[in-house]
Amino acid sequence: MTAAATLIQINAGQAWQKEQDHMGATKLTIPARKGLAVRIEAGRTFSIVNTHGTQVVDSWAFNGADMAEFMSMEHSRAGFRRLCSRVGDSYLTNKRRPIVTVIDDTSPGRHDTLIAACDVYRYQALGHVGHHDNCTENLRDALAMLGLVPPETPAPLNLFMNIPWEPNGDLFWNEPMTMPGDAITFRAEMDLVAVFSTCPMDLLPINGKDGVIRDAEIVVN
Ligand SMILES: [Zn+2]
Repeated sequence: MTAAATLIQINAGQAWQKEQDHMGATKLTIPARKGLAVRIEAGRTFSIVNTHGTQVVDSWAFNGADMAEFMSMEHSRAGFRRLCSRVGDSYLTNKRRPIVTVIDDTSPGRHDTLIAACDVYRYQALGHVGHHDNCTENLRDALAMLGLVPPETPAPLNLFMNIPWEPNGDLFWNEPMTMPGDAITFRAEMDLVAVFSTCPMDLLPINGKDGVIRDAEIVVN
């Protein structure tokens, strides 16, 4: 079996697991509060598994040959004309080309496309003192392990993040609606670099009422 992709995980020394099953699928654990960058070839499928049912996973995808082209939430919403994608919808890059397509989703389908990645300023604004793990640094650090630099922090696809909206435009930060083991599966539409971050937000209930940040799993087929 050939490896499904170049598989890199940030923060050497963190416990993580990489397994290949008899079908050649590669399973990777994203440790709680951390990030993971993976190269995925066009045509392969990959799943993000909400192992414990409570964890938001910030996700990005970059053109594997050109980091200046990346999955864009604003371009994608204009393409599928919804706030939340459904099975069959493609996410578009900032050059309006499909980069991934949703081919299966066993979760209730609530994935946020509106909210920026958390960063040190977000935690400061919420009253946190000192450093706090955050998705923006996880993106940067995960890509650095591949020798890559993000041109900016694109708006992430916040998998399993439950941000309901009201007809008047009000937004709410709620717990995920997912069950343990729920998963969303994509097909790569180009050679890409995907990055995932188990969002370390523990000051709002987006990762469950107990505020415990948990690991999640990636399966590349
Ligand atoms: Zn985050």
